[in-house]
Amino acid sequence: MALEEKDLYVEREQKKPARLACPHCRLEDDYELAWLVRNKKPQLPPQADERDRARFAKARNYMLRRDDVVVCKNVRCRKRFEVSGVQSVVFFDATPVPTHIEVPEPEPEKPKEDPRVAAMRNAFRKRY
Ligand SMILES: [Zn+2]
Repeated sequence: MALEEKDLYVEREQKKPARLACPHCRLEDDYELAWLVRNKKPQLPPQADERDRARFAKARNYMLRRDDVVVCKNVRCRKRFEVSGVQSVVFFDATPVPTHIEVPEPEPEKPKEDPRVAAMRNAFRKRY
């Protein structure tokens, strides 16, 4: 009998903060999202066959997001909204589990202006 997913992994529930913006009131805050973390077992159980070993060799640590909906923290809003911008599955190879889930920014921040350019422009402005 082939091994199941749970025979390959040590499972545990973990909360991880993610920065989310409420679509109703647009307020950003950190929300604790529940994840199911699956870490590869140090070794396979003895009943593992050839196929299980091949699968185990390719298997990676991963975590599944459990929370799809959160309640807005803004006391004047308190609306439920869907978690977006956070992956539902995160693979990781290193043993320490990622502690914070990075939510990609909707727009990249503008690069800061070179201070020398700013100084030159200010000097130019003063003269004219
Ligand atoms: Zn809100």
